[in-house]
This record gives sequence, structure tokens and C-alpha cells, in this order.
Amino acid sequence: MGDLKYLTRLEQLEQLGAEELNALSSVEDKFVFRTNTYYNALIDWADPNDPLKKLSLPNLEELEDWGKLDYANEGSFVVVPNLLHKYQATGTLFVNNVCGSICRYCYRKHFFMEGNDDVTNDVSEALEYISSHKEMTNVNITGGDPFLMSARKMERYLIPLYEMDHLNEISFCTRLVAYNPFRIIEDSALHNLLARCNTKSKRITIQLHFCHPREITEEAKEAVFTLVKCGCNLWNHTPILQGVNSDPKVLAELINRLGRIGVPMKYLYILYPTEGNKLFSLPLEESLAVFLKAKGLEKGGLNNRTVRLIVSDEILGDVEVLGKIDNNIYFKFHRPLFLANDGRVFFFKSNPQAIWISDYKEFGEF
Ligand code: SF4
Repeated sequence: MGDLKYLTRLEQLEQLGAEELNALSSVEDKFVFRTNTYYNALIDWADPNDPLKKLSLPNLEELEDWGKLDYANEGSFVVVPNLLHKYQATGTLFVNNVCGSICRYCYRKHFFMEGNDDVTNDVSEALEYISSHKEMTNVNITGGDPFLMSARKMERYLIPLYEMDHLNEISFCTRLVAYNPFRIIEDSALHNLLARCNTKSKRITIQLHFCHPREITEEAKEAVFTLVKCGCNLWNHTPILQGVNSDPKVLAELINRLGRIGVPMKYLYILYPTEGNKLFSLPLEESLAVFLKAKGLEKGGLNNRTVRLIVSDEILGDVEVLGKIDNNIYFKFHRPLFLANDGRVFFFKSNPQAIWISDYKEFGEF
């Protein structure tokens, strides 16, 4: 890990002047700040619109009255401490509430706020629940960032999960390969643990989270290759973020560069209208236009052509945004909350101002 250091106070950023520090302290008081020296060094500090700076540095616009905390309403699907059971077949296991850097657009920013008790250190009740709910066939381990934990702590939940026969898929959700690839490259205990859980009968999936092509550094590529050598199955997902990857050329480059290193872009998301996220938000139909244009530009192989644009609604479930014909916008249930909806296509009249699916009011007509 060399001399990588985590920075948890804005005043530790030598790039900020006194005036900027003063102005941003009110944002820091509301939404937690955390970054590290590796990610900081990727930023072009002379560029006021640098996308990596936008991703990690607090911005006064976060204080605008817009959106709501926990827009995804995850809290109402928590069945026992640390476990969310929203979709019948899927469990979401929260194992910590700390990340390699805090993404300013995070939709779980309430996790990092004082007094939040959604995540505890003890996942035993969650493991018991998973073990006794055989309809749950896949578990996604997330947080925070699960890869920030020591391999010894990860082993305590990963091995029991791996040994549950009814689980077809165990996946991790991590952004650490972008934020601190050394954590992946240098920990032989982590390599051994992952290798133990990757056999011919079952393999671990890692959902990576690169947002911008500049995050794919030589070190990040090394970390990806390390995970591949441990036998993991990898793919990437990211929201479409205004001023970060909302330029179709940038998004196409991200998709292409990931494809090169064997990480297909599986899902692009419409950003949740979470409190503080206005500066990253695009109208849904603009995100669709960016997505379609990027797909047209990337000229990738089949791996990349499978990418879908998803709006993950708290009532409907995961819905794919298919496209627009004339004045209608078409959607398809991808992972519905109510299974009877699976695969159904529906549409609304276009609303260029809509940020979220619930902003569409008028059904279109066939
Ligand atoms: S890594 Fe994930 S959980 Fe952590 S701040 Fe970023 S989006 Fe939120």
C-alpha cells in the first residue's frame, strides 16, 4: 500500500485554500468526507471541472433542498440487522459502513451519518436468516465497502455463505479497486480466501464500480487481474453522472477500457434522487440519450453490447429503460418486486423533465 493515507477532514487537503475550506466546511458537517492520497493524486486540481474531483470533493450544491435521504427506501426492507430482503431471491448483506473514499453521489449516505445503526459488527442473525430462507438463491455483500475489512473478518461470513447449498451466487459490491487497488493487490490472505471460495462448482462474483476511465490506472488493472487470478467473475456498474461520465465519448471510453481488461459493463443506472445529489443528476431521458449514443460509439464486442440502462425503483423493482419511439418512452421489468410483472413492457408519454420513473404520469397508448 506504500504511503497511501486516508484523509477524513477537508483541512488535510493541501490543495484547498482557506476560503474554499471555510465555504465547504458546512457541507462536510452534513455529509461525511473521506478520501485518500492515491485517489487525490489522480485529480487534476488545476481543472475546476475535473470529474474525479467532483466525485470526491464536497460541493456547496449538495446543500440544496432536493431529493431525500434513503430514496431507495432500503430501510423498510431490512428484515434483521445487516440484511435487506427486498427481492425474493436476493439478500443484500451489509458488512460495514466505511468506504475507500466517500462518493459524493452515494445513495446510502445516511449510512455514514451519526446515529445510524443499519450496519452492526455482528452478522450472525443475518446468516441465520439466509440459512433458513431457501428461496434466497443469491446474496450480495456490500456496505460501505466489504473489501476494506481484513480477510480474517471476511472469512467469518464468507465461508458460511459459501457452504450454504441453496445459494447459487455470492457477489461482492466494491469500489475499492478504483479507490485503493493496493488493498487488493497486496493482501495474500484475501487472495487465499477468494481462491478457496472459487471452485469448479461455485464462483464468487465481484461487482466493480468504476465511474470514469481515468480511474482505470495501471494499479487498478493490476488489482482487476489479481481478482481474475483468484478465480472471481467480474463485471462493472455505475450510475450515469452529470459532469463525470455523462459525455457519451467518456462513457464509451469507460465501457471500452473495461472490456479490454475483461470487465463487461453490465448495468448503467439512473441516479437516485438522493438528498445532496442534484449536481450529479440528469433527466431520465437525457441519461437514455447518453446511454444510446455511448453504445453507438463504443463499437465493442458482445461483452459490452449486453449493457442495460436500469432505473431501480423502490416500488416497481429494477426496470430497464428500453428507448423512445415518437413521443413515448418504453420500459421493461428486469427484476420486478412482484414476479408476475417479469418481462412486461410498458410505456409513458415522454416527459423530458422527468428525473425518476414516478415523474411520468401519462400512460402512452398503443
Ligand atoms: S463506494 Fe458505494 S457505498 Fe461507498 S460511498 Fe461510494 S457509492 Fe456509497
